[in-house]
Amino acid sequence: MERQPPSPSYILDAERFPDLFQVVSRQEYTLIGPTIQNQTICYGKLETVNELPIGWTDHQQGGKYELSRRDDDAYFGYQVGPQSWKEWLFPPRQRLWKSRRDKEHQLKFEAAPLPEQRYAFLGVRSCELHAIAMQDHIFQEEEFCNPYYARRRQNTLILAVNCTQAGNNCFCGTMGTSPPITQNYDWVMTEILAPTHCFLVEAGSEAGEAIVQELQLPEASVTQNQTAHEAVASVKDQAIRPFETKDLRNLLYDNLEHSQWDEVAQRCLSCANCTLVCPTCFCSTVEDVSDISNTSTQRWQRWDSCFSLDFSYIHGGTVRTSVKSRYRQWLTHKFAGWQDQFGSLGCVGCGRCITWCPVGIDITEILAALQDSPTN
Ligand code: SF4
Ligand code: SF4
Repeated sequence: MERQPPSPSYILDAERFPDLFQVVSRQEYTLIGPTIQNQTICYGKLETVNELPIGWTDHQQGGKYELSRRDDDAYFGYQVGPQSWKEWLFPPRQRLWKSRRDKEHQLKFEAAPLPEQRYAFLGVRSCELHAIAMQDHIFQEEEFCNPYYARRRQNTLILAVNCTQAGNNCFCGTMGTSPPITQNYDWVMTEILAPTHCFLVEAGSEAGEAIVQELQLPEASVTQNQTAHEAVASVKDQAIRPFETKDLRNLLYDNLEHSQWDEVAQRCLSCANCTLVCPTCFCSTVEDVSDISNTSTQRWQRWDSCFSLDFSYIHGGTVRTSVKSRYRQWLTHKFAGWQDQFGSLGCVGCGRCITWCPVGIDITEILAALQDSPTN
C-alpha cells in the first residue's frame, strides 16, 4: 500500500544542491557541515558542495574509526563523527569578561559581547537534534540562562538529515532518539540514491518554508515519499543494544559498589575523550588570565570533564580521587542523576563515546552487565 505523506514534501535534485548553498549564503548564514579533516568526517565551514564527504563512509567499532569509499556518490552516507554541534553552540572556550585598571587605579569590567554570527547547520542527525534539545534545556533555563549559547541558538538554522543506515556503535533505537526526524528542525532531508539522486525535503518552520519557496522545489511524488520512508524505517531496529532504559535510575543508585566499577576502572585511562565527544556533556570551568603588567584580566569559560581530578576539587582536596569514582560519576550522572535534574536520560545513543574511547569501553556493555547481575 502506498503511504500518504503527513505534510507537503518536495524534491531537491542532487545537481541543485549548490542552489541550497547559495540561498543559505544570501540569507547571511555561515554554513557549517560535514567535511573530511584529519581522516575523519568533522563539521566545518563549507563554501562549496565539493567539500562534502561525497562518496565516503565511516566504519566504527569500540576504539576504532576509519573512512572508506562507497560505491555511490551519497552526500550523507556516513554516521556521526568525533565532533558534535556543541562545538559551535557551546564552544570549547568562551571569554566571559575582561577587566582593566585605569589611570585612577579603578577596575573597569566589560562583559564579552554576544556572538552575532548566524550559523546554518547542515546534516544534523536525529540523535544530534535530541542532544541539542537537551542542551537547550540546560543552557536556556530562565534563572541560569547562558546568554552566549542562547544567542547562538537563536541565530541558528537547522538543515537536518534523516539517517538511512545505522552504524555499529549507534543505539538510538534503544534510547528512543532514532529517525524519522519530526521536530526541532527548519528543514529536513532524506537522501534518495536511485533511480535518480535527489533529496526528499520537508520544511519544519517558516525559515525552512522560505528556502523551499526560494528554490521553487517541485512537490515529491507518492513513490518518492514511499522510497524515503522505507529507507529511514529500518534504522531504529538496526540501532538496538541489549539493555533496558526503564528503571536505570534506581539500578545505578542501588549499585554504587558493584564490581563492574572496579573492572572498568582497570581499563579506563581517565582521558576524558568520552565527555569531550559527547553531544550532551556540558561541564565547564572558568580560568582567569592576567597580563604581565598586571593591569588587565580576562575570565574564560572552557570545557571541563568529570574525568579530570580538578573537576571535583573543593576546599581541602579532590573528592573523586580514583578512576573508579570518576567513571561511576559519569555513568551515574548520565543515566540516573540527569533524570533528577532535567527529567530525562542524558544520553542520545550516538555511540561517539564508544568509538572515541582509546581502549574501546562500551557504556552499553556496562549497563547491560549491571542489569544482568545487580548486587541490589
Ligand atoms: S554518552 Fe556516549 S552514546 Fe550517549 S550521547 Fe554521550 S557520546 Fe553519545
Ligand atoms: S571511558 Fe574511555 S574515553 Fe572515557 S575517560 Fe575512560 S578511557 Fe577515556
